[in-house]
Amino acid sequence: MTIKVTLLGTGTPAPSLEKCGSGFLLEDQQKKVLFDCGPGIVGRLLSIGVKPTEITHFVLTHLHFDHVVDFIRLWLQRWDRGRNSIPPLKIYGPVGFKRFVEQLFGRDGAFAPDIHGRIDHPIQQRIHLLRTGTAVQDWPELAVIELSSGDVVELGGWKIFARSVPHYQPYLENLGYRVETDQGIFAYSSDVSVQPDTKATDPTLEGLRELVHQADITVQHLNSVSTEVGLHEPSHSVAGRGGRPAGVQREHKNTDCDAPRTSHLAKRDKGTSDKGCDALLRRRVRVGIGPHDFRAGQAAKLK
Ligand SMILES: [Zn+2]
Repeated sequence: MTIKVTLLGTGTPAPSLEKCGSGFLLEDQQKKVLFDCGPGIVGRLLSIGVKPTEITHFVLTHLHFDHVVDFIRLWLQRWDRGRNSIPPLKIYGPVGFKRFVEQLFGRDGAFAPDIHGRIDHPIQQRIHLLRTGTAVQDWPELAVIELSSGDVVELGGWKIFARSVPHYQPYLENLGYRVETDQGIFAYSSDVSVQPDTKATDPTLEGLRELVHQADITVQHLNSVSTEVGLHEPSHSVAGRGGRPAGVQREHKNTDCDAPRTSHLAKRDKGTSDKGCDALLRRRVRVGIGPHDFRAGQAAKLK
């Protein structure tokens, strides 16, 4: 079964007309799983022909706005266009995400007047009757499962491992994910932030190394700290299967993309090509650019 990986957005919190926030689509024939949904990601999905109603699962790393703000659009448009005809979006994320979702879409949430009107107003009921054959609608189900570091989710033949990744704890939890499939391993380590004085002993770094160990594709945010602790060293074990170190020449050094990029997850020992777009994703995908992001105008220079 083919598994496709698409980099939808690899930007930073900095405003940009070209770049979007974080968003990565992992899909096979049965499911489309979106990891993170930063600013502009729904537009990027539409640009590759994927409608919000086609997303089956959403997985969040952490509650920074550049990873989650377009989730609001995704969820609302998916519900509005798919109600009573598709299952509720299955949502996974760290502790705190359930409260976040309920505060948006629950009966007392920020969008309650909108949702209420779309369920009960006679105009909307007529529209719904024409679309589905019934005017009756229930309040949308909020199918949120909160994950903790060490949890494993079985998802249609895939195993998703969650591990805490050092970032802005204790203000918010940040989970990295390892997806093991019969076609290979995808790892997404999201942002990495460690205080300089604790980086050598930070226990969560070991979890991060486990997440990316022998992954076929690793999406990893690049910043100065993760370089300092060795997670970007070319000889590190995140190089992938086959024991070959990921030489610098094999890495795509700047994948900050202003358009979606797609590859297929494939085990290295199947002799897949290293040419073209696949090569960009074959080993490590570095996204984000670290502390320099926060200087005005820097993002445009890094295109
Ligand atoms: Zn972050």
